[in-house]
Amino acid sequence: MKRIEHLGIAVNDLSTAIPLYEALLNTKCYKQEEVSSEGVKTAFFKVGESKIELLEASKLESPIAKFLQKNGPGFHHVAFDVADIDAELKRLQLAGFELIHQSPKDGADNKRIAFLHPKSSGGMLVELCQEKSA
Ligand code: ZN
Repeated sequence: MKRIEHLGIAVNDLSTAIPLYEALLNTKCYKQEEVSSEGVKTAFFKVGESKIELLEASKLESPIAKFLQKNGPGFHHVAFDVADIDAELKRLQLAGFELIHQSPKDGADNKRIAFLHPKSSGGMLVELCQEKSA
C-alpha cells in the first residue's frame, strides 16, 4: 500500500454537499463523474497528497443508497493506492480477507478498483485502487 488515495463519504445530495465541502476544504471540486455500473455519482476534491470522494446514489438499489438508508450520510470507505492491484488482491485473499470484487474493475477518476468486505477488515470498507496507465 503506497498511501491513502482518498476517503469516500456518502452524501444525500451532491448539489448541497459540494458547496459544503468546498467551504470546509477551501478548495474547488475538480471532477464530477458518474459510475453507472455502481449506481453512483462522485465528486472529487484534492487535499494535499490525498483526496475526498463524495458519493451520491444514482439508483434506488445501489450500494450507496442502501448505505444511506441504514447509516445516513458520512464516512463510507478508505481507499489505498497500490502499485499492482492484481498482486495485492491475491496477497489479501491468501491472507484470509474476503474480496467483494475478485478482479479489479473500472472505477471513477481513471482507476482500476476493488473492494474488500468489511466483515473481514475490522468493520471498515476498504478499496484498493491503481491509476490506469495512459
Ligand atoms: Zn472510492
